[in-house]
Amino acid sequence: MIFENNLAFAKNLDQNDPIGHMRNEFLFPQQNGEPFIYLCGNSLGLQPKTARAVLDRQMTNWENLAVEGWFRGETPWMFYQRELKKLIAPLVGAHPDEVSPMNTLTVNLHLLMVSFYKPNKNRFKIIMEAGAFPSDQYAIETQVRFHGYDPKEAIIEVSPREGEYTLRTEDIVSAIKDNGNEIALVLFGGVNYFTGQLYDMEAITKTGHAIGAVVGFDLAHAAGNVPLQLHDWGVDFACWCSYKYQNSGPGGISAIFVHEKHFNDKSLNRFAGWWGYEAARRFKMEKGFVPEIGADGWQLSGAQIMPMALYHASLQMFEKVGFMTPLRAKSKMLTAYFCYILNEVNHQLGEEQYKVITPLTEEDRGAQLSIVAKENGKQIFEHLVANNVLGDWREPNVIRLSPVPLYNSFEDVFETGKLLLSVCKELNYSKA
Ligand SMILES: *Cc1c(COP(=O)(O)O)cnc(C)c1O
Repeated sequence: MIFENNLAFAKNLDQNDPIGHMRNEFLFPQQNGEPFIYLCGNSLGLQPKTARAVLDRQMTNWENLAVEGWFRGETPWMFYQRELKKLIAPLVGAHPDEVSPMNTLTVNLHLLMVSFYKPNKNRFKIIMEAGAFPSDQYAIETQVRFHGYDPKEAIIEVSPREGEYTLRTEDIVSAIKDNGNEIALVLFGGVNYFTGQLYDMEAITKTGHAIGAVVGFDLAHAAGNVPLQLHDWGVDFACWCSYKYQNSGPGGISAIFVHEKHFNDKSLNRFAGWWGYEAARRFKMEKGFVPEIGADGWQLSGAQIMPMALYHASLQMFEKVGFMTPLRAKSKMLTAYFCYILNEVNHQLGEEQYKVITPLTEEDRGAQLSIVAKENGKQIFEHLVANNVLGDWREPNVIRLSPVPLYNSFEDVFETGKLLLSVCKELNYSKA
């Protein structure tokens, strides 16, 4: 499509957007009586208008049924997670048995590494992307130490080439192959939080398996952002949070994926709890842990009904649009339009004031664009916020702006471009 940098064009794209109406299902934060143009769904997704009522239903169950709520009501708490599993599965390309909502993300990353990082003297290394989200770095570092290895020796980080911001798949593949005999676990993000790069998870999985390693992914920035085929790709395990692109609210519940090929593997270690016990016999309260078959066998604690209710409200929004296919179609166009607009702004400024470090090819990114301003990035970012455009700032120099297909519009992107241009003129950065 040939894009145009004018309001009428953006509005026309919005009118022809088959899922444009979804924007009305969300609540936008306000400043000075005006709604923000919200481009921060990569950090915390917006509140679905239905979330309060869905949560309130469980508050009412608690009020009216108290402990009986576990077994009574329209969806007894004991079985509530089944409702969620049905909706989580299509979001990540899994069978419902392969996913389970529980805990929070970093906790789940640890639990899954307990099962799937099985180092021995010859094969004890973990390979990951350099510049992974800090929580993942800390989790991996401390897991390695827990097994008695030195992180400096046991962790291999794949870095971009000199002068580049993102990784080339060929470099990831050769790094895995080059260390093939020593790698126990390949553990990557799906989308990197800083650069917005979408990794080729299928190629990474294939290569990891070819050298005899286990392959897992942290999908915090990928789940609900890009289509995933975890089952078909043969990914061993994965986990994600639900409060970013999945709009489940701050501190929202995490979910895990375990491929069905591991369901009967008795050799896997687990840090177990009663909720992961074989469901039919859980309340016999017997000695000796017997895991439930499937991802549910990794659960620890009693079901977190309130956070699950919020996740449920959000998952219903994804169900309403038909999950990831229509979202991805819009997302590609929305983010491509944003790239085009940034190019236009640079053109009008007579220099590359805004450099996009996210890959420029659409199959290598999700919604997010990470932008390095040539000068005074922080000041520009603050100007955006003061003028009702909310993205986020990542030290040392990146502005992350994510047009989210569920609730952002082409007009949002156009207006943001206008502001990115005017701020440079106001602050006198323009050469034009
Ligand atoms: C957001 C994010 C986290 C946050 O973890 P919590 O345990 O939910 O605080 C961890 N890892 C990645 C890759 C993230 O993007």
